Amino acid sequence: MKVLKFGGTSVGSAQRMKDVAKIICNGEQKIVVLSAMSGTTNTLVEISDYLYKKNPEGANEIINALQKKYDNVINELFSTEECKIAAKERLNLNFELIRSFTKSLFTLFEEKVVLAQGELMSTALVNMYLNEIGVKSVLIPALDYMRIDKNDEPDTLYIKEHLPKLLESEKDAEIYITQGYICRNPYGEIDNLKRGGSDYSASLIGGAIQAEEIQIWTDIDGMHNNDPRIVEGTKPVRQLFFEEAAELAYFGAKILHPTCILPAKINNIPVRLLNTMQPDAPGTTIFNQSESRTIKAVAAKDGITAIKIKSGRMLLAYGFLRKVFEIFESYRTPIDMITTSEVGVSVTIDNTKYLQEILDDLKKFGTVTVDKDMVIICVVGDLEWNNVGFETKVMDAMRDIPVRMVSYGGSNYNISMLIKAEDKCRALNSLSKELF
Ligand code: ADP
Ligand code: ASP
Ligand code: MG
Repeated sequence: MKVLKFGGTSVGSAQRMKDVAKIICNGEQKIVVLSAMSGTTNTLVEISDYLYKKNPEGANEIINALQKKYDNVINELFSTEECKIAAKERLNLNFELIRSFTKSLFTLFEEKVVLAQGELMSTALVNMYLNEIGVKSVLIPALDYMRIDKNDEPDTLYIKEHLPKLLESEKDAEIYITQGYICRNPYGEIDNLKRGGSDYSASLIGGAIQAEEIQIWTDIDGMHNNDPRIVEGTKPVRQLFFEEAAELAYFGAKILHPTCILPAKINNIPVRLLNTMQPDAPGTTIFNQSESRTIKAVAAKDGITAIKIKSGRMLLAYGFLRKVFEIFESYRTPIDMITTSEVGVSVTIDNTKYLQEILDDLKKFGTVTVDKDMVIICVVGDLEWNNVGFETKVMDAMRDIPVRMVSYGGSNYNISMLIKAEDKCRALNSLSKELF
């Protein structure tokens, strides 16, 4: 069975939902994972913000506007009056639940319930529409099988045990519709897989049922060789190796959520990135095969902080790096890039929640300097060290741009460079010109 995930823009209007229906209704049994309609999760975040600030009027104004938007979608999506009324009544339950929080205490727990309503509404609408046009579609509630553990990691055993049972109980369905992004935590409370997490839902589902393929349908024809929001004339990359895709997603290629590759890779399930607006375009296939001697793509990750620790104590000593890494570990802060010399080490982080505490601890070991507002530029492809010439090309493209760190050789698939945020656009354009 295939798993098809449609993102926010792909279900962003009544017409887009009808387009999705055309793509998924081909007689094959499949699981369809849906995001919230585009803009909805941001609106729910905004509503939560008003509720945290104890401003129920502000929240109500936005809730009413959002419900009006959904009423218009319903009027356009369904053809019979009966279905329109049924859909409005169905979504009114979600809106009444959101409204109930304007009258009560608002905490992280209630916020997660509010954030879950986007996916609950989009899936309800698409499922009702499919039923109206006579398709055998059923809702499989993500809250009944998608679960995270105490470390916020997916509980894959639980998912593997519960999802197949739910599918089995609806054996005759042609289409199983389910929510991306939302889940429960080990205490049974509603939770989520973080923003953009519907891609992750799709690959966890794919892994749990050993899917034949995971398809991520979005608003562009696959992974492009550079960020299409910044560089003109980018082109789709037709094939990517799992590792290459993971590096690109992690280092800023927004088309794919960074966590989405691992479940697919572990289970060796190909991932295809496809375009809802152009369903026949070949898109990108991500699988377990690398192409030699090609540079595939460039991506950029914003909001990076670089920390340099210089110490005479590092000279000819062992154990220094361990002490440095332990500090980051104790504050549960992942390190992205690292470069070392005999008297110093530089690392980058993107989570600065504990920056001050980390700096205070690092100062016990050496002189510490910090560069904020930096960007990691990541070049991905077959960068195996025996292949000569690729590093030169990359560095040549960066000849006019100050580079703070370079990391190469960590994997066979990437070179990363740290630059100032203000140089990002210039760097991405120059790399595209030099490499593609
Ligand atoms: P969805 O809502 O379907 O999950 P996203 O907005 O998360 O879609 O991802 C698709 C967007 O990712 C594209 O519209 C594009 O602007 C952006 N993007 C950033 N980098 C890339 C890239 N390298 N290739 C393709 N799209 C990219
Ligand atoms: N709706 C969620 C978000 O906007 C999840 C997703 O779209 O992947 O982040
Ligand atoms: Mg996305």
